[in-house]
Amino acid sequence: MVGSEGYVPSPCTLDPEQVAEHPDASLLPDDLWERIDAWEGDEDDLDEDAVLYQSDLSIAPGWKAGGFASWHATDRADVLCVCGARTDLLVTVASKEWDGASRSWIPLEDRPTADDMDANIPTHVTVGRWGSMNVFLCRADHTHPPQLSFQD
Ligand SMILES: [Zn+2]
Repeated sequence: MVGSEGYVPSPCTLDPEQVAEHPDASLLPDDLWERIDAWEGDEDDLDEDAVLYQSDLSIAPGWKAGGFASWHATDRADVLCVCGARTDLLVTVASKEWDGASRSWIPLEDRPTADDMDANIPTHVTVGRWGSMNVFLCRADHTHPPQLSFQD
């Protein structure tokens, strides 16, 4: 992780809010995904305000605790602990709080300044090539070492 100013993150305030997330589209049963796809409509007819499951409704971009991991850069994977147990997403470190495809997640208090320079990168922490790092924790024993997954 490298900040843009001297290799350290920029100071910023933490203003957490609780949101509801839904699993990555790749985790949905085929019949459910087919219904969502039909609900979204024809890709060629979508305008910039169209609401899409993957970018607007399923997984919040940005730094977060809990929720679901995005598998936008790789195939989804079952992240297992060294003991073989399944893991849960503990925290996500993200390069951006939102992008052009995920503007529906912009917090209400940030909307007036959402288009200002660097408004979506308040920490100036960059993971890889503007990706994210997911930290998973063992379901069986939280003292086991965390497992990491990077999505660039
Ligand atoms: Zn474990």
